[in-house]
Amino acid sequence: MSVSRVGVLGAGTMGRGIAQLAALGGYETVLYDVAPELAEGGAEALRAALDKGAERGRWSVDDAKAAAARVETATKLDQLGDCGLIVEAAPEKLELKREIFTALAAAVGPEPVFASNTSSLRVTEIAAGVPDPERLVGMHFFNPPALMKLVEVVAAEQSSEAALAATTEVAERMGRTPIRAKDSPGFVANRLARPFSLESLRMLGDGVADAATIDRVVRLGGGFRMGPFELLDLIGLDVNLEIARSFFAQGGEPERWRPSPIQEKLVAEGRFGRKSGHGYFEYGEGHEREPDPDLGIAAPTLDPEQLAKIDPAAEEILTRLFAQIANEAAFAREEEIASDEDMETAMKLGFNWPLGPLAITELIGPARAAETLDRLRAEHGEAYADAPRLRAEAEAA
Ligand code: NAD
Repeated sequence: MSVSRVGVLGAGTMGRGIAQLAALGGYETVLYDVAPELAEGGAEALRAALDKGAERGRWSVDDAKAAAARVETATKLDQLGDCGLIVEAAPEKLELKREIFTALAAAVGPEPVFASNTSSLRVTEIAAGVPDPERLVGMHFFNPPALMKLVEVVAAEQSSEAALAATTEVAERMGRTPIRAKDSPGFVANRLARPFSLESLRMLGDGVADAATIDRVVRLGGGFRMGPFELLDLIGLDVNLEIARSFFAQGGEPERWRPSPIQEKLVAEGRFGRKSGHGYFEYGEGHEREPDPDLGIAAPTLDPEQLAKIDPAAEEILTRLFAQIANEAAFAREEEIASDEDMETAMKLGFNWPLGPLAITELIGPARAAETLDRLRAEHGEAYADAPRLRAEAEAA
């Protein structure tokens, strides 16, 4: 199945970015929205982004012009009829997405592959009730699509291999790195990232260190570009809390995914992060973080001497964080949500992690990770229950 024309439904934040990638990838691209001004507004923003990219040398002026010429807008679904792949980037509501695909199937017939950019709904549930559900897959881009290389191609229970392969090929031609994901809560990258915020919040609650110290340790000793709390402030505490609640519910309420009471409280107080002027930190004039000093640490590391240069609590902070990252990765491997290689790719490209979660497991070692979890479980309970696979690896080590 070879695709030459790509449709994008929804000309919002994600849709316009996805359409830009399709046009740059050489596809005739149709950007659809429910009203002409919405579709045209999206296309205008897309053209401006193409010009800006050319100014910055990310592609040539000629390539930007050629890509812009490949984009047209639509407000009627039958205008998407010649598209080989149609990517839906409409609001995150199950019923709406089902309605869209059902109407689309009636308008364009059985041929085009359908892909949903959902980040938290089950693709299998979206596909249920849509005619020819085997042609529907997940195609999960990260924000902003033009900069984030990762695309999770999600296999619903009904998805055909042909639909998955066509979607993967389009993602590659868009210059992205596709990975294959099982249709499971949050797919791969967002799920493996759970401990990054949740364990940091638990450490804050336990008084291990304050938010600024945890961030500094995670950057300087862990080698992450941003600490968990500055990242939460950037994403928005309210947005992150919704994600946390969705994981907790979809996962059957496992303690390790319980949303943080600290975050619940801050959101209730209207402290949403950068966008509201304060979250874990204060923003505005004079509140930008100081650049980190160069302490000569080859991060990521668990070397106690190196870590002591940052803070007395640094070793405990990274040990707890890495133990929970290793634990989540072990659960994910048990559930076979993706191949080992794809899990590593997901975290390096989706979240700019310095190492994938399996390399982090190796760094801490399964035995130390399991011991750490045992110690914390005795003190703090079931949020530290370990994955049988991690326990088995610890015993084999
Ligand atoms: P958005 O609100 O910016 O854009 C949604 C667009 O869909 C709007 O232009 C709206 O007019 C349009 N729309 C509404 N009803 C429609 C319909 N019936 N048919 C076609 N279009 C319709 O939302 P967004 O942030 O671009 O998110 C879109 C999807 O992408 C969601 O499923 C979201 O979960 C997912 N996603 C978002 C992000 C992110 O960071 N924003 C990242 C990954 C995935």
